Amino acid sequence: MIESAVTKLTFAYLAILMCLSIGFSLLLYRVSSVALENGLRQPRQAVFRETSLYDYESFRQTRLHEVHDDVRDSLIILNVITFAGGFAASYLLARRTLEPIERALASQKRFAADASHELRTPLTSMQSEIEVALRDSKLKLSDAKSLLASNLEEVQRLRRLSDNLLLLARQEKKPHIEAKKVQLQKVLLDAVDAVEKQADAKRIQIDLPNTDTSVKIDSESLHSILKILLDNAIKYSDKGSTVKLQVHADKELLTVSVQDQGIGIDAADMEKIFDRFYRADSSRSSVKAEGHGLGLSIAKKMAETHGWWMSVDSHLGKGSTFTVNIPIT
Ligand code: ADP
Repeated sequence: MIESAVTKLTFAYLAILMCLSIGFSLLLYRVSSVALENGLRQPRQAVFRETSLYDYESFRQTRLHEVHDDVRDSLIILNVITFAGGFAASYLLARRTLEPIERALASQKRFAADASHELRTPLTSMQSEIEVALRDSKLKLSDAKSLLASNLEEVQRLRRLSDNLLLLARQEKKPHIEAKKVQLQKVLLDAVDAVEKQADAKRIQIDLPNTDTSVKIDSESLHSILKILLDNAIKYSDKGSTVKLQVHADKELLTVSVQDQGIGIDAADMEKIFDRFYRADSSRSSVKAEGHGLGLSIAKKMAETHGWWMSVDSHLGKGSTFTVNIPIT
């Protein structure tokens, strides 16, 4: 599809170029003919002294034809060169013009393939469970209930996935940024409240700093990013550990960090963890966490829309610190 678009665009560029080149050539030919005819009229007096009027007219006609032919040949050669050079240049230009579209299409394709893979796994598992249950004519009520409970878990997972996909899709549009002066402490408290259940389930303590910093930011976005980071810190930590929220502010930069004592991230995975659907292999770890590999890519994109950026420091088996860096304007 892109190849045919490149061909079409190449010919469109080439057609414009050749129209201009041929137009200018015709104009040049016309102007040079007029200038030549005028020029050859000038020396008439001088030539008259030595030749007859008839001789001069035939000389003039021959010279005119010769020069016309020369000019025409030069213009034809110039247009052939323009065509060849223009074709190569048009092709390169067309490729360059369509490159961002090609990249966007490839990324969309990858996204659709990854998303459908993530959707297919829980759907297949639900389908096979239901089929087995339907084939069992003596299905007990307790078995039916446990099947429903297992299906409900899958449905919840699918719902989380569709929520995240929606969030990602919304970020593709121009975001509505609402920056207001807020007390940072309140944003931190709200984010911790949002993950309280998960933390309690694993007896994880979340340490909060005491800060009186107030900043003009889009607090909703910071809340969402912190929720993702806290959720991960809890997910990838052992029961009974501690997660720390830290704040540092100077004149130019505000940083908010989430530090955990969890499984840590392998150096080889560090660059990829912010990619959509990427999940590091945690098979060697005692912590088994569910997810779709979308949280960090959402957080990173959200941060970037505000001119913030994320950084991470992690040591395998020791823990990780994710930081949101917010320039103060
Ligand atoms: P998910 O957690 O749903 O897999 P994320 O995009 O939030 O997706 O994270 C991507 C991957 O980065 C995770 O699968 C995990 O391997 C790694 N990761 C993220 N946060 C942490 C953390 N705090 N500790 C260890 N690994 C983490």
